[in-house]
Amino acid sequence: MHKDPSYYIQGVLDNNRLMLARTITLVESILPSHQEIAKHVINELLPYTGKAVRLGITGVPGAGKSTFIESFGTMLTGMGHRVAVLAIDPSSTRSGGSILGDKTRMEKLAVNDMAFIRPSPSGGSLGGVARKTRETMLICEAAGFDVIIVETVGVGQSETTVASMVDFFLVLQIAGAGDELQGIKKGVLEVADAIVVNKADGDNVSRAKLAKRQYETALHLVTPSSPNWTPPVMTCSALEEVGLAEVWETINNHKQIMTASGELDKKRQDQAMSWMWFLVNEGLERWFYQHPEIQKLLPGVRKSVEDGRMAPTRAADELVAILGKDLLL
Ligand code: GDP
Repeated sequence: MHKDPSYYIQGVLDNNRLMLARTITLVESILPSHQEIAKHVINELLPYTGKAVRLGITGVPGAGKSTFIESFGTMLTGMGHRVAVLAIDPSSTRSGGSILGDKTRMEKLAVNDMAFIRPSPSGGSLGGVARKTRETMLICEAAGFDVIIVETVGVGQSETTVASMVDFFLVLQIAGAGDELQGIKKGVLEVADAIVVNKADGDNVSRAKLAKRQYETALHLVTPSSPNWTPPVMTCSALEEVGLAEVWETINNHKQIMTASGELDKKRQDQAMSWMWFLVNEGLERWFYQHPEIQKLLPGVRKSVEDGRMAPTRAADELVAILGKDLLL
């Protein structure tokens, strides 16, 4: 690894592919020395970020996410956009292998000069994976990508995590056995900016239309996140490339409305703030558990609480007070 941050900064700003990949690898590294350089790089790149459309996409395995991103991304590059596809796949943490963002799943985009695909970072908690993806998004924006697609599967909290870093959150669904509403979590409906029923082709068109009506009913039951936007339900065929232009139009329409009302800026500010607090909490926790005195006392305190000799409140107060002592020195 190069030690000079400007080596990475310049490479990214020059939109050098190799340097883009190297900088992302730097950001994904868990080595403290790499993280130190990465922090400088991100901070210097920050003024060049924020201009892209940030789009989140979720859907169960088989819903057609990779087919959709392949067709949709190719349409966008055809319109002159530069598209980066990132992924958050919590399962990669456990299995070591990622099922999302795999280049072989998007063969055309993978060899498209106007596109860049980065698989999910692996290892660590969802928060850790999300941090790396968030920073990778900024790096891609600084390199001039103007559409960033963050893809995820509906595992654990991954949908809300992705929704908290994008401008527009798209939920890809397929027509099921009839009772569509069982297949979608309420929390996902609440953060959806649009639901797109995929595979509306061939014999499936009427079922897709029925599913669309059911999702429309379901969306009526949740409070919209913005007074100015009612999440639409649309149908498409990623395979036959039908309905994709309408999806893009909807995203642009949303952007215009949110920009005019000031909600887009506010949303990004809120996202940056909650991200900062997340990191503060994470840092405090690390500081706590790494503190030598706490590490020494913790086993005894834990035993006392378990045995009922010490109240949990007192134990917590005493442990936290140890951190406070550092501040008084
Ligand atoms: P993912 O797991 O969500 O990424 O789903 P894939 O994109 O891998 O798609 C799963 C399967 O559905 C594949 O066999 C695709 O060819 C098929 N598929 C995806 N989109 C469509 C579509 O619009 N119409 C039809 N008929 N099949 C599709």
